Amino acid sequence: MRVWAVANQKGGVGKTTSVVSLAGLLADQGQRVLLVDLDPHGSLTSYFGHDPDSLTLSVFNLFQHAGQVPDGLAEALLLDTSHENIRLIPASTALATLERQTAGQGGYGLVLSKSLAQLNDQFDFVLLDSPPLLGVSMINALAACEQLVIPVQTEHLALKGLERMISTLDMINRSRQQDLPYTIVPTLFDRRTQASLNALRVLRTKYAANLWQAFIPVDTKFRDASLAGVVPSRLEPGARGVLAYRALLRYLLAKTLIDAQQRTAE
Ligand code: ADP
Ligand code: MG
Repeated sequence: MRVWAVANQKGGVGKTTSVVSLAGLLADQGQRVLLVDLDPHGSLTSYFGHDPDSLTLSVFNLFQHAGQVPDGLAEALLLDTSHENIRLIPASTALATLERQTAGQGGYGLVLSKSLAQLNDQFDFVLLDSPPLLGVSMINALAACEQLVIPVQTEHLALKGLERMISTLDMINRSRQQDLPYTIVPTLFDRRTQASLNALRVLRTKYAANLWQAFIPVDTKFRDASLAGVVPSRLEPGARGVLAYRALLRYLLAKTLIDAQQRTAE
C-alpha cells in the first residue's frame, strides 16, 4: 500500500483538487484507492456528497485513541464515493476541536499511520488531504506518508506559503531522522498572466531539485466535476487539466519507485 500526502499551509492552492484528480486516475486504472479527509472544512468529504456537518463518524474518531487504535475502527469509518474503486474516510466538523483536545499531550503523532496499517490489504493507494495549517492532523499526514505532494498556486503570495511549508517539513524530517521525499506542483497556471509566468520562473530557479517541471493549468472542468461529485477524469478524460494530472501521476509513480529503491540501497 502506497501512502501519499498532499499538503501546503495555504488554502485554495489545489490540494483537494489534486487529491481527487490523482485518485480518479489511479482508480480508473483499477487501483483500490483510499482517501482520507484531514481538513475540518471537509471539502473532500463534501465533494463526494457527504455532509461534514451531519456525520457522526469521521477521521476524528481515530484521534480519540492516543495509544492503540481499536481493531476494525478504521474500517468502520469507510464511506463509498461516486467511483467504485475509491473509498473515503471523511472529515466532520468535530475535527476542528482536535487541536484543543490534544493540546499539550503527546502520543497523537502516529494515530493515522497505525490506523492505515489496519487497512493495508484493502487498498493499493492512500491519498491524504491535509488542512492548511500546521497541527496534529498535518503532522499525522506527514508521519504516515512516503511521499509528499505540495501544490503551489503560481502567484506571488503562494511562494511565501511554500517557504513556510518547507520549513515545517525540515522540522518533521529532523524528528523522524529521515528525509521525506516531496514534489512541488505548480497549480492554477494561467499563461496569460504575468503573475503565473513570474511564479513559475521563481519556482524553477529556487526549487528546481524538487519541482515537477510542468504545471496544472487553470481549467473550469475542475469546478464542473466538483459540482457533479465525480472525479475529473470521469467527467472529461481529455480535459487539459486531466491530461496535466495524468502526466503528474506518471511522474510521481516513477519517483516513488526510485525513492523506494534508494531507501533499500541505503
Ligand atoms: P485547497 O484544497 O488547497 O484549498 P482546492 O483544490 O479546493 O484547494 O481548490 C480551490 C478552488 O479552486 C476550488 O474551487 C477548485 O475547484 C478550484 N481549482 C483548483 N484547481 C484548479 C484548476 N487547476 N483550475 C481551475 N480551478 C481550480
Ligand atoms: Mg482542500
